[in-house]
Amino acid sequence: MNATGRARAGGPGPRPRAGVLSIGPYKQGASIIDGVDNPIKVSSNESPLGPSSRAIQAYLAAAESLCRYPDGTQAALREAIAGVHRLDVARIVCGNGSDELLSLLTRAYAGPGDDVVLSEHSFGMCRIHAQAQGARVITVPEPDFRISATGLLESLTPATRMVIVATPNNPPGTYLPAAELQRLHAGLPDDILLVVDSAYAEFVTAADYDPGAALAERANNVVMTRTFSKLYGLAALRIGWAYASHSIIDVLQRIRTPFNASAPALAAATAAMLDREHAMRVREHNSRWLETMTRELTGFDLEVIPSVTNFLFVRFPSGRHSAEAAFNFLRMRGIIPRPVGAGGPRTHLRITIGLPEENRAVLNALGSFMSSDGAPTP
Ligand SMILES: *Cc1c(COP(=O)(O)O)cnc(C)c1O
Repeated sequence: MNATGRARAGGPGPRPRAGVLSIGPYKQGASIIDGVDNPIKVSSNESPLGPSSRAIQAYLAAAESLCRYPDGTQAALREAIAGVHRLDVARIVCGNGSDELLSLLTRAYAGPGDDVVLSEHSFGMCRIHAQAQGARVITVPEPDFRISATGLLESLTPATRMVIVATPNNPPGTYLPAAELQRLHAGLPDDILLVVDSAYAEFVTAADYDPGAALAERANNVVMTRTFSKLYGLAALRIGWAYASHSIIDVLQRIRTPFNASAPALAAATAAMLDREHAMRVREHNSRWLETMTRELTGFDLEVIPSVTNFLFVRFPSGRHSAEAAFNFLRMRGIIPRPVGAGGPRTHLRITIGLPEENRAVLNALGSFMSSDGAPTP
């Protein structure tokens, strides 16, 4: 025993704060199949076309000054984002993936005794961040895989500090129409932070979609998070951004580390944002294949939820043509989809739009699977 009355050695050791050990591990999309050399990875919603070549050049150029700290003000990237999206540059902050920004927001606004309300198919890490803070997570179901503004509003408690929605959501790939997002916001007390995670915003072509920018522009309790991991093809660099009121941005600026976005990431993302032609090409490739794959899979008698993203959420029947049998069948053909597990529906597979030949391989495999007797051999 020492002066504080605690054991000096041989005790259980340091204990994390309450909630930390209740966190289950995050499961990354699989990327290998034993015995398959070049599997088709359609499990993580990565860009099949990769980043802009200008982004790669900027990244390589950044290698010349690796001894220098990054620009902690993130000025070039914030200006590029503000120019392209016509936003107030002072209200943008960048982070180590949008994941970090979601983590910082949760750290700043929720703690023990607080409730965080999550729409069912929010980004998996949001739950983990809230649990790590010792906050209680309230999960609101998404009937028919659609975010329910009514359900979210009915789930508010006096202890609610944050409401988090991903729109489009993941894995369903559906979105909350702008009018519904507005209705959700209008029903929230002004001291509840509304987080709009719009990781797939760049892919959405629907006219009644607001990624949260319009709302964040005028409300003081809304933050929109965006990423360079999806359409811009920079997942490896970990770079995302947030847009919110001055007061929320001020909070993020206080709590983030000064160099949370690395210099190569800032350089590559700036070039990527300014290459509108590449962004448009990726968007067009995605729209074309989203339509083709939805049509063809529907033709195989599969149920495909209309997606506005770069992935498809496909429902399989029970029995011989179950999602699990399809998963095994695809893997035997070297294709890795994302099984939706961990409490999610086991009736579906999530499949990312890939290169043309990858998409054809997925279609061929699922066509054979659905017309086969369902045995797990191709
Ligand atoms: C991929 C994804 C993100 C973001 O990721 P970062 O790589 O951390 O920017 C956020 N939300 C959803 C719903 C996603 O699918």
